[in-house]
Amino acid sequence: MTGSKQTEVSEAPLEPIIGIDLGTTNSLVAYCDERGPRILEGPGGQRLLPSVVRYNEADGGVEAVGREAHTHAVEHPGNTIFSAKRLMGRSVADVRGDLEYLPYEVVEGEHNTARVGIGERLFSPQEVSAVILSELRGWAEEALGTQVRKAVVTVPAYFDDAQRQATRDAGRIAGLQVVRIVNEPTAAALAYGLDSGAGYRVSGIEKKEDGRVSLSTKLNPEACTTETDPPSAIPNPPSQTVAVFDLGGGTFDVSVLRMMQTDQGRVDQVLSTAGDTHLGGDDADRMIIELIQKEVREQFGEQIEFPASTRQAFRNLAEATKIRLSDESSAQIEVDLGVDGGGSPRVYRRTLVRDDFENMITPLVEKTIRCCRDALRSAKCSADDIGRVVMVGGSTRIPLVRRRVEEVFKTDPYTALNPDEVVALGAAVQGSILAGVNRDMLLLDVIPLSLGIETMGGAVSKLVMANSTIPAQATEMFSTYADGQTNIKVHVLQGERELVADCRSLGEFELKGIPPMPAGLPKVEVTFLVDANGVLSVQAVEKRSEKRASIQIVPNHGLTREEVDSMEAASYEHAAEDMAAHRLIDLRNQARLDIRAIEKQLAKVGDGLDARYRAGVEGHVAQVRAMADDKAVDPDRFHEALDAMDKSTVRLAELAITQTLREE
Ligand code: AMP
Repeated sequence: MTGSKQTEVSEAPLEPIIGIDLGTTNSLVAYCDERGPRILEGPGGQRLLPSVVRYNEADGGVEAVGREAHTHAVEHPGNTIFSAKRLMGRSVADVRGDLEYLPYEVVEGEHNTARVGIGERLFSPQEVSAVILSELRGWAEEALGTQVRKAVVTVPAYFDDAQRQATRDAGRIAGLQVVRIVNEPTAAALAYGLDSGAGYRVSGIEKKEDGRVSLSTKLNPEACTTETDPPSAIPNPPSQTVAVFDLGGGTFDVSVLRMMQTDQGRVDQVLSTAGDTHLGGDDADRMIIELIQKEVREQFGEQIEFPASTRQAFRNLAEATKIRLSDESSAQIEVDLGVDGGGSPRVYRRTLVRDDFENMITPLVEKTIRCCRDALRSAKCSADDIGRVVMVGGSTRIPLVRRRVEEVFKTDPYTALNPDEVVALGAAVQGSILAGVNRDMLLLDVIPLSLGIETMGGAVSKLVMANSTIPAQATEMFSTYADGQTNIKVHVLQGERELVADCRSLGEFELKGIPPMPAGLPKVEVTFLVDANGVLSVQAVEKRSEKRASIQIVPNHGLTREEVDSMEAASYEHAAEDMAAHRLIDLRNQARLDIRAIEKQLAKVGDGLDARYRAGVEGHVAQVRAMADDKAVDPDRFHEALDAMDKSTVRLAELAITQTLREE
């Protein structure tokens, strides 16, 4: 494809349309401009607003919103309102099953609608939600520095008309025009650009007649020497079926969607949803609490009491343990239970290993899997029909959940975006489409900046070159630098420059548990895969032990075309100095490896060498070592010294090999 950059006609600033994820437990606000969507933070950098409001019992005024109301909820059970979303647009009869979870009063109001009773007053759930929405609106106005009057708000796919209308009304009370209600799973899919074509993430640049910006590949044949496969772009399918798996703290739902791009724009259809409104991470916490309580009683006697403060400590500990087990294979639990009647300290300690935790929560996870099968059946789909699975909700960080979802849908689920934020980000993308911002965004058909990993000494080894068409795949072998090294850090970078310091860090992960081997022996295969939606998966596998680790990233968030252009220009401008710096890093790495090998050989057969020869070798080694440490070293002289050192050691190497053969 060819094309040229065109100057855009400047227009009046667009009125911002923010995206709001109005959640049962937490709510978020996001905004999308040409850089892509981003979460707007509140005071102190908070990204999540607990969906909790405390009212004054006497006059019905709002006393606290969000974190403050949440933190002191236990002290004000009757006038702290949480989970108002469960009551939106519902009658008391509808929510009877929820009432046992709600410590405040829920009564029947006008038109059979559920109301919250505080003192003498009744509040509609819409009014409570409006307090949350106004708080988020305030965050957005502060962050954007402008008045905000319009929002896209998300709701669960299973919300009926009354619940959707109630959500709109909540917006109106908060002074926000809800320009679109979007299903949460649809928003999650939009955040990943799965609407195939409305794309906010970007690369090339050419304005079409219809005003949309599309691709102009500036193909640089020399830059495209990577083994990128397949070489040509496979266009996004015009429609695809997507599953969205949403497991939060207290609710679970899975939806099957069909996302279609038509001439009239994006159309999405929720083919089915299934779930459980009382299933989530809190259940896993409860299981850990029960385990601790049971074992404490076994150790310190059945009669031991757990006052409210201890129960709260158990809850915090259980959640922290669960979260730790998402990253570690075991977690320590320690509870100080004070002293017993005889004054002896009572401390409960145990290690919970991930395998045991997984066995414990298997029934919960299997419940979600049964729902997935139900959703597939209702959508008249098989797992093979599902192109992508998007993970939403904090509890999808649990490795067992990811594994089981991958097994059922036979595809690596999308986890690159923060699962707590993905719905709000998608709502913001929808907002930008409605506001017309999206027109100026770029479509991702090629990779705008090269992708690679950090290697020893701060150099970047590029695997996928800029302007490769997507999908793209590249694989390279790496190894260890130190003898017995068991971990390798894989730092993923984006950019055209040669040094880590001049590129943009996209994320990093560690490959752990490599069996100890001499430096250079482990074979670590690193694979980059950029799929048709621009999502980058990086996987590292140590071939002997089959140990593997991976990361998923959406690499293009946060860069405008101008920034991509200027990074590219900088790479040309600094090409010579960058290449020199890279060459020096390579020479230093080579020098270190060679010196280490020579020292080993000297230790083995050095005593049998004649003194003059040995002194000569040691002289070369000392010179190369000094040059490796010299920041201002001339690369050509360094190269020559390295060659001379290598030549001087031919005899030494032969002797060492002969000795080794003799030993064998
Ligand atoms: P959400 O309702 O989407 O905000 O999800 C909240 C739930 O996700 C809570 O139960 C958290 O304990 C859980 N959660 C958050 N981070 C993790 C993690 N790293 N591993 C396991 N669960 C997590």
